[in-house]
Amino acid sequence: MRLVYVDNNATTPIAPEVFEAMVPYLTKEFFNPSSMYEPARRVARAVREARQRIARFFGRIAPSEILFTSCATESNNTAIVGAAKANPHRRHIVTTAVEHPAVLEVCKEMQRNGYDVTFLPVDRHGNLDISEFIRALRPDTLLVTIMHANNETGVVFPVAELARITKETDPAILFHTDATQSVGKLRIDLSGEYRHVDMLSFSGHKLHAPKGIGVLFVRKGTPMRPFMIGGHQENGRRAGTENVPYIIGLAKAMELAYENLEEENRRIAQMRDRLERELAARIPYLEINGKGAPRLPNTLNLSCHFIEGEAILIELSEHGICASSGSACTSGSLEPSHVLLAMKVPFTAVHGSVRFSLGRYNTEEDIDRIIEVFPQVVEQLRRASPYWDAKRNAPREEAYGLLQEAGALT
Ligand code: PLP
Repeated sequence: MRLVYVDNNATTPIAPEVFEAMVPYLTKEFFNPSSMYEPARRVARAVREARQRIARFFGRIAPSEILFTSCATESNNTAIVGAAKANPHRRHIVTTAVEHPAVLEVCKEMQRNGYDVTFLPVDRHGNLDISEFIRALRPDTLLVTIMHANNETGVVFPVAELARITKETDPAILFHTDATQSVGKLRIDLSGEYRHVDMLSFSGHKLHAPKGIGVLFVRKGTPMRPFMIGGHQENGRRAGTENVPYIIGLAKAMELAYENLEEENRRIAQMRDRLERELAARIPYLEINGKGAPRLPNTLNLSCHFIEGEAILIELSEHGICASSGSACTSGSLEPSHVLLAMKVPFTAVHGSVRFSLGRYNTEEDIDRIIEVFPQVVEQLRRASPYWDAKRNAPREEAYGLLQEAGALT
């Protein structure tokens, strides 16, 4: 059975070009870049060049503003905890209710440590209310940490504008963005439109580099303390021997992602939009989450009334389709996704959520296959639902009250 992989927001396959670029550094060029002899200095030069190549994709920033970490989770932890350590007198953090756990859980931990955290809500489309954001900023605000693009819905927040507002309100408030889902999908000029962003995180494995490499951009002059303490790597800002092969791989992955970005985004958006249109035409009682907001070109998040996302995923998997649900079931909980709950997806649909996230290697045939399989899966599962009338392919009379209560009939 041919595999249809549409879970690119979870992770992406390593591009063959990336793998090829890494091989020498996994084999003969194994030296520690901190060592003094010539082969090691050669490796150090390769790391320096990779850092320069990566920095170039963010406008006119200094390569020394790029810190290599192990993943976006580490970058986010470093940004939040590092900022707090360096600014002990400020005790308030502003974030959103829809962040990835790599920010949300860190903010909750900060709360347990006595910090005051504002979790900004979003509307039904996933948008933030800018005036609410402005009202949240306080004289004791330490940090704003707001994601660029949402991993579940693809909704893009106006981070450049939020950062500008933050700095106009109080230049001492630090602005961090988790750009794990947008790097490699959107252009981010940290010397232009995004010049008010102080820190930015991402992970290589979302853009066809391997798992185990991340970046934290830290603008020169940003007051922050290291999170990983030990040796003097990364100018004393992140200890631990550099992951040389993966750094080299990341530079190659960035080049591949950005060389044809606009064309590739158009191709992917066209496939995503066709998938969305065709599924919406075939499946009654379907919510398209984030449709009313600016969205990444590759992400489609759907909620089907009266069925369970996990059951849909298992059925899709039987047909070779790899997608994911919004729920946190993988972490052992059957709670609906905090993102979709924050967006007030009707409770009759919030459990029936599925995310398709497309990527470089998807084809029109993959989309055809999903269009063929997904409506059948939904229909089959709904037949087993006490709220669904299979004959009419519509909710039972009794279910309309529930739909009304859930706000799904407006
Ligand atoms: N932030 C966002 C928005 C993500 O989508 C992810 C991964 O899904 C992460 C952070 C965490 O990335 P990693 O697991 O590479 O640390």
